[in-house]
Amino acid sequence: MNQLIDKHNRVIDYIRIAVTDKCNLRCFYCMPNEGIDFVKQNKLMSYEELLRVVNIICAQGVSKLRITGGEPFLRKDLMYFLKKLKKINGLNKIAITTNGTQLLPYIDELLDLGIHKFNLSIDSIDKQRFLKITRRDYFEKVWNCFEELSKRKVDLKLNAVVIKDQNIEDLVPMVALTKERKIAVRFIEEMPFNGIGAHYQKLEWNYKKILQHLENHYGKVEKLKDEKNSTSLNYKIPGHLGSFGIIPAYSRTFCGTCNRIRLTPIGMIKSCLYDEGIFNIRDLIRAGATDSQILETIQSAIGQKYKDGFEAESKRIFSPLVNESMTTIGG
Ligand code: SAM
Ligand code: SF4
Repeated sequence: MNQLIDKHNRVIDYIRIAVTDKCNLRCFYCMPNEGIDFVKQNKLMSYEELLRVVNIICAQGVSKLRITGGEPFLRKDLMYFLKKLKKINGLNKIAITTNGTQLLPYIDELLDLGIHKFNLSIDSIDKQRFLKITRRDYFEKVWNCFEELSKRKVDLKLNAVVIKDQNIEDLVPMVALTKERKIAVRFIEEMPFNGIGAHYQKLEWNYKKILQHLENHYGKVEKLKDEKNSTSLNYKIPGHLGSFGIIPAYSRTFCGTCNRIRLTPIGMIKSCLYDEGIFNIRDLIRAGATDSQILETIQSAIGQKYKDGFEAESKRIFSPLVNESMTTIGG
């Protein structure tokens, strides 16, 4: 069987594609409020280019794909792209990460298509705190989307970045949502990908502190067995239908089992969230590369995959400090 294997013997079977850098929210940990130069349409990977890449890597064992952004539903004709993706041999799982502001009208169509894995980002379940973090007044829309998804047969995860002085009050009530709902709430350590280059030496609300905070309220929680390649440490409150997880995205404890690559809106292949990008596949395609040349270049990028996010960060040359906006990467 064909496989993509990195130099640390990890099988790469998962790609995350950011289809746009545009967003209608301005979550302050992700992007600046103003002055953003969004990518011009002709610089984005076209759907045809993306489909070509996905076809090539799925023939090499990639079986899982996540659509992200920016806000993926702001990209025109996303449903057209998803329908084409569904036809690709070997691609068994398609998941979507979304802010939920635009999803509602597409839910039925997505479920009919067999897409039922959603990560819905909601950093606060309090309207005022949500507004303060996202800097846009969309709470009701996102909450309605959550309510609608909760009623459906979907694999639903709620993503919340844990931010000092902003949404700590939400941790306990968000876990309470798992009492009657078979959902997973996932708390993500904040990373410095905010587009302004503000840095901190030490992350106060790291995965240990988040867990301690929840245990202080709920008592000892039940540790669940984490799936292979899981980035989250997963737990359950005894008696709750759903679960919660903590993603040590800044502490980077999960890199050893990394199975993924990323493709940015402009076609940069990233072997790690923290690297600067290995090469631009859009330029290679537009220069007339054949499928085997594209595959060779992807293999070579995977060959260079860093051991972990710390190594990737230490090898940055053009911008040694991590300061890009997450909308340009996809999270
Ligand atoms: N717009 C969509 C959304 O918000 O779900 C998809 C793109 S967003 C960049 C993907 C994920 O990255 C979201 O869950 C978001 O909370 C997370 N994210 C963005 N910036 C982050 C940061 N600086 N640290 C940790 N997570 C971040
Ligand atoms: Fe937009 Fe998602 Fe970034 Fe928030 S986290 S600004 S919703 S891309």
